[in-house]
Amino acid sequence: MNMEKTMEDKGFIIQETEIDHILSKKITSDAAKVRDVLAKARELKGLSLEDVAVLAPVSDPDLLSELFASARYVKETIYGQRLVIFAPLYISNFCKNECTYCAFRVRNPLVQRRALTQAEIAREVQILIEQGHKRILLVAGESYPDEGFPYVLHAIDTIYSVKSKNGEIRRVNVNIAPLTLAEFKELKEAKIGTYQLFQETYHGDTYKKVHLGGKKRDYNWRVTAMDRAMEAGINDVGIGVLFGLFDWRFEILAMMQHIRHLEDRFGVGPHTISVPRLEPATGSDIAAQPPFPVSDLDFRKIVAILRLAVPYTGIIMSTRETPNIRRETFALGVSQISAGSRTNPGGYFEGEEESVGGQFSLGDHRPLDEVIRDVATLGYIPSFCTACYRLGRTGADFMDLAKPGEIKEHCDPNALSTFLEYLMDYATPETRQEGETLIARVLPQMTGKQQKISQKMLDRIRAGKRDVFC
Ligand code: SAM
Ligand code: SF4
Repeated sequence: MNMEKTMEDKGFIIQETEIDHILSKKITSDAAKVRDVLAKARELKGLSLEDVAVLAPVSDPDLLSELFASARYVKETIYGQRLVIFAPLYISNFCKNECTYCAFRVRNPLVQRRALTQAEIAREVQILIEQGHKRILLVAGESYPDEGFPYVLHAIDTIYSVKSKNGEIRRVNVNIAPLTLAEFKELKEAKIGTYQLFQETYHGDTYKKVHLGGKKRDYNWRVTAMDRAMEAGINDVGIGVLFGLFDWRFEILAMMQHIRHLEDRFGVGPHTISVPRLEPATGSDIAAQPPFPVSDLDFRKIVAILRLAVPYTGIIMSTRETPNIRRETFALGVSQISAGSRTNPGGYFEGEEESVGGQFSLGDHRPLDEVIRDVATLGYIPSFCTACYRLGRTGADFMDLAKPGEIKEHCDPNALSTFLEYLMDYATPETRQEGETLIARVLPQMTGKQQKISQKMLDRIRAGKRDVFC
């Protein structure tokens, strides 16, 4: 009975036959057709699965530049110039699953296992606050210490409780294994921001091949997790694919189906999309040699196509990628980035980057201050804003502002005020100078109303106020 129900659910959300059908049709990606789709995308209404299939094969250099330019236009129209910054916090690398690509898999003897105590979590958080972070993404393997799932709830409480001088963590997002409806309700009560979960691959056969043991073997339990999260009242959910496991064209079409399902059922799609690419991981052969490697060019196309297809959704780029790739994708639609990351529990205190407890290799090893300076030099406003979530602008309310491109009326002023907080409280003199130059350059480019609001908020920060947002 239960089995039947889950099979139905899977058939309902991801319809492989529809994807195969679209991909097997001889898609005519001639210039006129591609330009039609790009023109439609620039109206900010998103794209259909067929439209996405038209853009996927584009390789002509002129059309590619037009694709990238359209993505940039859509990003800047909706989100303005801000780039939200966060840090992951790995609280435990114990796991009962056997995901062949991950160092934390249960049968990997090469990883030193560790679950942080609440005191150790607080110590990590203090370090992140003192670097200037305001947003944390809590990450864990699927196995919690004796107390079970409440361990995660306690960790969230601990994170919010740490204060250091002017700083505190104002938004905790979480990336943990799928929960029951009742557990999701508890997670909502704990005041999380976004619940993130990546399907890894939407392709059923591949999913079976790479998930060899543990609860994660159940594709349907995972693909229906966002439904349970939303039923529990968690309005902001983040989806993702681990690129490299299967054909990326299939994966983005399947992701579109997942989004369509959430929109149909809840009236709102995902708040964010993550685009991790498979990176080498201790004790994983498949991570070193991805079965479907994604080239840098295809990776940029993926980001650009997603930006056009779901214009109102944030795109997250982690430190798995190198500084160069990260820079390139900022222009194509990325709206959130992690910085100064460690993927081993306790890694911020220990200062070690890739110890035997880490999840995968990092591509960007720079400390937060250096990333901030780089982002500012490129003309983007590093943002530590958490306003939407704290003002209840989540789920459909957020989308109502994002869809007509009005969210940037909030994003840019909030980005400037939180950026100035960072510059005054944490930046090196070099970064402060670069940042002040950026603020002076950005302000006059704003509309009259936006400029007035921003100026007022900046004056309050300069006068010593903190946590000023609109
Ligand atoms: N354990 C939970 C799960 O699997 O959903 C949540 C945390 S898991 C540590 C976070 C994500 O890391 C996974 O969803 C997967 O996409 C990603 N990941 C695992 N191994 C990776 C690798 N070798 N390279 C890049 N990303 C990887
Ligand atoms: Fe465990 Fe998640 Fe790693 Fe799989 S990806 S082994 S579930 S931590």
